Amino acid sequence: MAETRHSKILIIGSGPAGYTAAVYAARAMTNPILVQGLQPGGQLTITTEVENWPGDSHVQGPDLMVRMEEHAKAMGAEVISDYISSLDLSKRPFTAQADSGTTFTADAVILATGAQAKWLGLPSEEKFKGFGVSACATCDGFFYRGKEVVVIGGGNTAVEEALFLTNFATKVTLIHRRDSLRAEKIMQDRLFKNPKVQVLWNHSVEEVLGDTSPLGVTAVRAKNVETGETTDVPCAGFFVAIGHAPASELVKDQLELHNGGYVKVKPGSTLTSIPGVFAAGDLTDHVYRQAVTSAGMGCMAALDAERFLAEQDEA
Ligand code: FAD
Ligand code: NAP
Repeated sequence: MAETRHSKILIIGSGPAGYTAAVYAARAMTNPILVQGLQPGGQLTITTEVENWPGDSHVQGPDLMVRMEEHAKAMGAEVISDYISSLDLSKRPFTAQADSGTTFTADAVILATGAQAKWLGLPSEEKFKGFGVSACATCDGFFYRGKEVVVIGGGNTAVEEALFLTNFATKVTLIHRRDSLRAEKIMQDRLFKNPKVQVLWNHSVEEVLGDTSPLGVTAVRAKNVETGETTDVPCAGFFVAIGHAPASELVKDQLELHNGGYVKVKPGSTLTSIPGVFAAGDLTDHVYRQAVTSAGMGCMAALDAERFLAEQDEA
């Protein structure tokens, strides 16, 4: 029989924002429930070295997230492996329906559903997804040992993916639509020094080319955005690293959003347009999008939620 679980605070998401909110909410004795979603540990589980988490000059992303989960549990948070498929914020207690059939009700909700990789939207990209087209070098780089690969994008993710892929591939071509990268300078220096990397500036990708039997990528058709000239760049793997979109699907018709789908919060807080609903991390942040800033917002969300609950008790 489907069960109903009630908590004072329900945290949706298990990235740095969700786990930090869980640590703070648990230490405030609110017995929070955290639902992990399909990616336990969030985006950092698909990367390798993290060098900017304070206190750790080198830490593997997946290891850091296991430590955060253990920390949240040690403080008393209940961490549940499930996925919230719908959320009703129209009245309190708020109601979340999970894939397992469990219904979660809560006096306050902390949304920490983060972001997901963006795709170019080409039919050929869709056709070869999982057969040469990927958005995660850490997950799939190993398949391209001794082969040539292409990465598209100009941010930190694209540069990190390109550098990581040099561990396997014979050549990595980074295609970027402009003539300068958005990535941090230190990352750019590493990229430009790597003899396996070639950068194709001012190009977009028009089409992914490949074989149908067996299904596999053989090249990408790149277009010079200034001249319109096209070039086929041979590759066995094509990695799309053009940024991330906020995972606001659950709340898009219920909360105020801005900047293309990010949940809007009152400046300097995690308060959304519905009292009792708080948002933290990449879901609400189109500017910084870092593990440490997400964790900071997770802390703020837990403190905001506790204050909200205290005010309800006083009313
Ligand atoms: P996320 O980490 O995106 O986690 C979102 C969570 O929500 C996931 O656990 C997911 O399962 C859950 N979720 C989503 N929908 C649902 C649902 N319906 N029900 C239940 N759960 C749900 N930042 C740095 O500071 N340093 C780095 O070195 C660094 N490297 C990166 C490398 C890569 C490849 C990428 C992609 C990002 C990197 N970042 C880095 C950015 C950093 O990972 C993010 O800023 C951070 O993870 C955001 O944390 P978050 O908690 O907001 O969300
Ligand atoms: P991002 O910074 O938004 O960069 C996206 C890149 O993709 C940009 O260079 C953009 O080009 C390009 N792009 C976007 N749409 C495109 C399209 N349709 N076709 C071609 N190119 C397109 O995203 P990100 O690199 O994923 O980084 C996201 C956040 O995570 C950032 O805040 C980043 O700092 C953080 N992060 C940090 C680390 C780290 O600290 N080590 C590592 C990874 C990610 P333009 O430049 O022309 O806009």
